[in-house]
Amino acid sequence: MQDAEIIIVGAGTAGLVLANRLIQDTNARVLLLEAGPQYPKWALDAPLAGLRLRKAWSWTTQTVPQKELGGRTVPIPMGRLAGGTSSVNAMIAAIGPTADFDAWAKVGCTGWEWEELQPFWEKATLSKPQRIMPVNPPTFVSDFSHAFLEGCQQEGFQKVESLTGSQSETCGLFDLFQEGSKRISTAHALERLRLSNRFQIRTGQNVLRILLEGEKAVGVEIGGSRSKNIIRASHGVVVSAGALFSPQILQRSGIGPARLLSSARLKVHVDLPGVGLNLQDHLGAPVVIQSTTLSPGRKSRWISAALRYLFFGDGVMASNCCEAGCFFGGPRNSPDLEILTLFQTNRHPHAVELASILMHPQSKGTVAIDPRNLLGPPIIDPQYLTASGDADLILKGVERIRAIVNRPALRQFGLTTEILPGAMEGKDFLRVHASTYHHPVGTCRMGSDDLAVVDPGLKVRGVSNLWVVDNSIIPAVPAAHTAATAIVIAEKAADLLKKDLSSV
Ligand SMILES: Cc1cc2nc3c(=O)[nH]c(=O)nc-3n(C[C@H](O)[C@H](O)[C@H](O)COP(=O)(O)OP(=O)(O)OC[C@H]3O[C@@H](n4cnc5c(N)ncnc54)[C@H](O)[C@@H]3O)c2cc1C
Repeated sequence: MQDAEIIIVGAGTAGLVLANRLIQDTNARVLLLEAGPQYPKWALDAPLAGLRLRKAWSWTTQTVPQKELGGRTVPIPMGRLAGGTSSVNAMIAAIGPTADFDAWAKVGCTGWEWEELQPFWEKATLSKPQRIMPVNPPTFVSDFSHAFLEGCQQEGFQKVESLTGSQSETCGLFDLFQEGSKRISTAHALERLRLSNRFQIRTGQNVLRILLEGEKAVGVEIGGSRSKNIIRASHGVVVSAGALFSPQILQRSGIGPARLLSSARLKVHVDLPGVGLNLQDHLGAPVVIQSTTLSPGRKSRWISAALRYLFFGDGVMASNCCEAGCFFGGPRNSPDLEILTLFQTNRHPHAVELASILMHPQSKGTVAIDPRNLLGPPIIDPQYLTASGDADLILKGVERIRAIVNRPALRQFGLTTEILPGAMEGKDFLRVHASTYHHPVGTCRMGSDDLAVVDPGLKVRGVSNLWVVDNSIIPAVPAAHTAATAIVIAEKAADLLKKDLSSV
């Protein structure tokens, strides 16, 4: 297939879900272009091994120095391969509070309330012939995670069957995107997609910009500094490159804030000042406690764990690392904070790790092209902790972790010495140790106002035949693990695009 009817830029979490549904439900010829390589089953299918090895299949992106983090830069690595970040993430399938989606509808995103989205989530995960991402209970749960949940109950949390983040003061195990003890990423849909002669994926294809004729998207330019190529698409282009790269691609195409584009000597095709604004992320902080009985971080045990997984498909290699958690604070139907167990920590050989994570950050940042290096990485500035109140909430979560850990249920582990925060106090601790918990969103925000980048039909404002479909369209980050959000967005997008493509 030389040219296509629809080009999707980025075979990531959303991109592949969208391609899957467009092939099933329309007659369109779809070409998927992915900067990274194919999904390596041998390395990433085993959940814990995949998490340990993920850096080899991730972008090496990092933030600019963050003022409120003592001038630190923060690595913010997303997946760079087929399946995108769903191929390297912790596999948690937690959609978050329905109220958070209803809030999108209230800020001008008509049709995006939960009642409208729920059928798409169910289609993607539940109904067997159609589902793309099976959701199942974890196959490996550590003694520590079980005890943590008992400790949460002693602390007053209500234990739920499957933790989704939908209610404050609940705790539980997370369901996972997995089958048996294997990761399921959206890349697994490729086996089925390749059977269609209307579908093609090309990996190792870096998309530089959208090709515009007048105000219409007609294809893309791929390549690097040495060679460039054009691929045309008769019915349009969907940008699904994720919250860090979708705004960069739009800006490189002359769609974005006129001042920024002019500073990079780019022709301004559409002055859309909102492109790259509204970057939101789940920032959090680790609590690391030395244990007299547990040693999950001891390197020597990886050999036996790997052999066990290889021969029997079970054991600690089947762990997704973040097995259990709890949500609290905020209104009952939209929690402010999440505590996550990261039992399989490799920070210390004899320690356990938990994290306090802020769910509704008020700090908002930007993603922009580098005017001096248009083909280089984007300039990512989340402005972490610049909004008053964000830091205090994370520290509140740290206190709640301490309270849970001191409950009788966890005494068996001899959790004696607190390594982090340890002697460090409050905001000083955050300056050194606060970090991303990997949910950047919002940089091509959907809405109906002047700063919105896409309308509720996900069409880029001011351009025809151009859509954005990934987590960059999120108006406000939900108290969710955002792979689920990307999947819902893509399913809904397929339904919207189906109508646009009905003539194909
Ligand atoms: C370490 C980690 C753990 C996480 N754990 C969880 C979890 O347990 N549960 C959960 O729900 N969420 C988790 N997340 C977050 C979640 O996985 C992401 O929010 C979600 O997958 C993002 O989906 P997306 O479609 O927006 O982008 P992505 O899945 O990142 O897809 C974007 C794709 O576009 C490609 N691309 C980018 N630029 C270009 C270009 N110029 N040309 C061509 N292709 C390009 C990328 O390589 C990538 O494949 C985690 C994230 C990380 C990093």
